[in-house]
Amino acid sequence: MADPAAKQQERLAALLQEGRTFPPPEEFRRQANIRDVKVYEEAQRDLEGFWGAQAERLDWFKRWDKALEWNAPWAKWFVGGKLNAAYNCVDRHARSERRNKAAILWEGEPGDSRVLTFGMLEREVNRFANALKSLGVKKGDRVAIYLGMVPELAIALLACAKIGAPHSVVFGGFSAESLRERIQDAKAKILITGDGAWRRGNVVPLKHHADEAIQGAPSIEHVVVVERVGKAAHAAMKEGRDFWWHELVAQASDQCDPEAMDAEDLLYILYTSGTTGKPKGVVHTTAGYLLGVSTTHRMIFDIKENDVYWCTADIGWVTGHSYIVYGPLANGCTTLMYEGSPDYPDRDRFWSIVAKYGVNVLYTAPTAIRTFMRWGAEWPAKHDLSSLRLLGTVGEPINPEAWIWYHENIGHERCPIVDTWWQTETGMILISPLPGLTATKPGSATRPFPGIEAEVLDERGRRVGPGAGGYLVLTRPWPAMFRTIYGDPDRYVNQYWSRYEGKYFTGDGAKVDEDGYFWLLGRVDDVMNVAGHRISTYEVESALVDHSAVAEAAVIAKAHDVKGQAIAAFVTLKEGVQPTEELKAGLKQHVANKIGAIARPEDIFFTPELPKTRSAKIMRRLLRDIAEGRVLGDTTTLADPAVISKLKQQYEEEGKGE
Ligand code: ATP
Ligand code: MG
Repeated sequence: MADPAAKQQERLAALLQEGRTFPPPEEFRRQANIRDVKVYEEAQRDLEGFWGAQAERLDWFKRWDKALEWNAPWAKWFVGGKLNAAYNCVDRHARSERRNKAAILWEGEPGDSRVLTFGMLEREVNRFANALKSLGVKKGDRVAIYLGMVPELAIALLACAKIGAPHSVVFGGFSAESLRERIQDAKAKILITGDGAWRRGNVVPLKHHADEAIQGAPSIEHVVVVERVGKAAHAAMKEGRDFWWHELVAQASDQCDPEAMDAEDLLYILYTSGTTGKPKGVVHTTAGYLLGVSTTHRMIFDIKENDVYWCTADIGWVTGHSYIVYGPLANGCTTLMYEGSPDYPDRDRFWSIVAKYGVNVLYTAPTAIRTFMRWGAEWPAKHDLSSLRLLGTVGEPINPEAWIWYHENIGHERCPIVDTWWQTETGMILISPLPGLTATKPGSATRPFPGIEAEVLDERGRRVGPGAGGYLVLTRPWPAMFRTIYGDPDRYVNQYWSRYEGKYFTGDGAKVDEDGYFWLLGRVDDVMNVAGHRISTYEVESALVDHSAVAEAAVIAKAHDVKGQAIAAFVTLKEGVQPTEELKAGLKQHVANKIGAIARPEDIFFTPELPKTRSAKIMRRLLRDIAEGRVLGDTTTLADPAVISKLKQQYEEEGKGE
């Protein structure tokens, strides 16, 4: 009897071969926020008019004089306008019918939960804004934030925004050294941290890391500490320098006038994930950013007044900034925040949360979906997921196999999937379906958002034809675009705007098909050149993941005397599958069948885990170092450095590192 995995395999192969598309289900289309395809044409014809009309949804203290001033690569949006981001996300809703609507639904590690209505959130934000003022924070002072996913994290961002102090959030999983580097670069005056954070029932000693970090960071004057784990943390407090959050806010007033910020005033700095090298301090300003994230959130996630919306990212990354905090709250939407991991206490944690809160829109990452696939469909099947009506993904290209799994096992073939491409630098989603309009194709992020113009170019700046790979660039400014690299405007110009005159170089490879759909191929550095053919790591990985034995794969090119480069694949097998020589041969053949002999991996290496960044992206450059027998490059942004050293040792022991 054919096993179910093989059956699904067959069905998937048939489906993808016929190039099947998934039009919006009729029921969804009828109720969608954006139903008229003219939106593309209108934005194309009158960019300033399009964004100006959207900007009416924000509350302005002073209206702007000019929607856009563009002197490539320098942009100014809504010149002359004055507003406050926190006022737009909180106060104005707290003063409306939404006063007692849930703003933040917080699900903590088992046992804890908290609901903040817009009215409650307004008071909490005001108290903490006043606490910051009492510590001497003024408009323009940078505030570093190093916390787990607790409600105080969102409150801290908004309190900073309220008084005009740019925040710089550092993901709570980073080491003391990474934190120090970022504090120093931003010259932050205040650090907000916790006594500790919960991680799978264990304590991450945030305060210890923070103390270590600020030893070499003299700009920090005060540390504010959120009590989260209590006695378990043994956090030491330094008299006069450190303050408990709860003690500060207990004395603070819950009234605070918003600072009237210039449209182009700095809202925050955020360092990129560091997948490709040294992290860059990306600068986002107030009006354009808030407008870009709220507009895309409403249109792409089809947000309705009563929706419960859940983005599973961490607020330490841009996805959390834009699509847990600023976008949803600016829209007056209920946003869910989850503190823990997907497998604690068990592997159905996400699905039990969806059922508990009746989540309507879920936004997560391909790496999470591949993990759920590996664990098996029985985990989501235990829960009632019928509240879901729309699914999203971000962070990496999604392999078609994973897309179909998500569609069938989470969306029950009822929910459209929006595959959203964007970057820390872009601030907002730029390539994505509009779920009531766009027919989706598994693995394609489909089309640029209205008003966004993307092209795929070759080395010399010529547009490549349908199906051919090249470099993804953006040719028109958009409101949430970053304005510079903090303290390093030259890097802004050189890294992003110099490769092609006046165009934004994304660093990603892509191709466009006959229908004008974009297919992201991974980072430019990850595109391989095998015997003169350009092959993307993503395509070979997708072919591998498409095999029923494979859970995850990372593909790299290593130097080869004859071919220039040869393909090596690091493969994680599904649970219970034995790593055999036969399977290796089978996988090589499978790739050759799917893509062509040219893409057949020279080498396949089985490993229980792949090296990932703390934002869960595969770090291919370290795998290249291993395959080419080099000393490992910078590993400070890895989630678990032990994975890569084990892998290196194992690789060398198997005699591959010659
Ligand atoms: P660094 O720039 O420091 O190396 P990073 O690029 O991983 O780190 P982010 O800004 O978090 O930091 O990630 C943006 C990148 O993620 C994009 O350039 C792209 O490579 C990838 N990405 C994000 N979403 C998608 C998507 N939907 N499809 C394909 N790739 C995506
Ligand atoms: Mg990047």
